[in-house]
Amino acid sequence: MENVIIVRYGEIALKGLNKKFFEDKLVSQIRNALLDMGKIRVYKAHSRVYIDVADYNTRDITDRVKKVFGVVSLSVAKKFEADMGRIEEVALQELKDRIDKDSSIRTFKVETRRGDKKFPLQSPEISRDVGAYLLQNIDDISVDVHNPDVVVYVEVRDKAFIFSDKIDGFGGLPLGTNGRALLLLSGGIDSPVAGWLVAKRGVEIEAMHFHSYPFTSERAKEKVIDLLRILSIYCGEIKLYSINLLPIQKEINEKCPEGEMTVLSRRFMMKIAQRVGKDNSCDALVTGESIGQVASQTVKSLSVINESVEMPIFRPLIAMDKVDIVDLAKKIGTYETSILPFEDCCTVFLPKHPVIQPRLDKILKSEEKLNVKNLIDEVIDKMETEIVVAGS
Ligand code: ATP
Ligand code: MG
Repeated sequence: MENVIIVRYGEIALKGLNKKFFEDKLVSQIRNALLDMGKIRVYKAHSRVYIDVADYNTRDITDRVKKVFGVVSLSVAKKFEADMGRIEEVALQELKDRIDKDSSIRTFKVETRRGDKKFPLQSPEISRDVGAYLLQNIDDISVDVHNPDVVVYVEVRDKAFIFSDKIDGFGGLPLGTNGRALLLLSGGIDSPVAGWLVAKRGVEIEAMHFHSYPFTSERAKEKVIDLLRILSIYCGEIKLYSINLLPIQKEINEKCPEGEMTVLSRRFMMKIAQRVGKDNSCDALVTGESIGQVASQTVKSLSVINESVEMPIFRPLIAMDKVDIVDLAKKIGTYETSILPFEDCCTVFLPKHPVIQPRLDKILKSEEKLNVKNLIDEVIDKMETEIVVAGS
């Protein structure tokens, strides 16, 4: 008997002619996630992906694989020769193991799928026979077909598979199936979640961070790298571009109305990101903005920020409430790092009374007072680039 992990993928099975492309990407992303664990066989069959676990720790493997985008759920199964006697025995062992771990289990049902139509019994007959065998051999247990404590799944294909647990993945699409985008990553709660959501749709992510060194500290930058390490568990290695925005903030501070600082510096961020993004095959920008969350995120501000670039800006959090964003940040593991108290570049020149209903014509007038192109050239010239990987 062997241990095998069955990986289910929902949406990508529906992709018609592209199906093979998506499946192959999923298999290669799963292989990548397990790369440093040695030789593990990962292969696809019957619209599933299978992982031969041999004597590896299945927990280590499921913990990694459930984080691969495209994975809807997975189960650790026993795989053996399909024979009715063996199926009953293994099903009994499976249910006993579950009861050993959780003594409150009182009800079960058996659910069978038969892929091998040559097998002498049909699915309902297999379920019925296995169910009867379990009832005979375990005390104090009964069948509940509607709301059982445990479902024992039996699958009969070239081999028989038995499992009783499904671990949820995050769904989405395998990374690398949908182009590349540049995430504007602050050290806050929102932008890592925004990047994660876009990556979950199969988009490769690069990141750009703006700091105001020496007004912002080295620790603030370390925090951003820590956030990227967490994201890279899901996204693989991530390229980080760091830009010192201070020369631009100083110039705005000197020449433009105080209240326009936030909108003007956001427009600079977008323009810089667009320039660097274009040079690095990114086709969209991603931000963690959400309507109304702060003064700079009124619909008016967002539209004036939009006008600064041609590249599409993806804002996956646009209509989400903060509590829901926080929940998601906790789920993906970025929250604890995001709330560490390090100063952000935007707080350095924070206006007392920010303009919350900016007018594009006024903002453009202010920008005329600045040498936008030179300022952008200057900061991009000093840009630092590095690659961040989980565990590095
Ligand atoms: P976050 O939690 O992501 O910091 P926020 O609620 O604090 O967002 P803002 O500070 O208004 O909102 O920032 C809006 C978006 O602008 C951020 O989600 C991020 O995408 C981008 N941004 C803000 N500051 C920076 C920065 N220092 N570097 C890179 N991007 C930034
Ligand atoms: Mg912020």
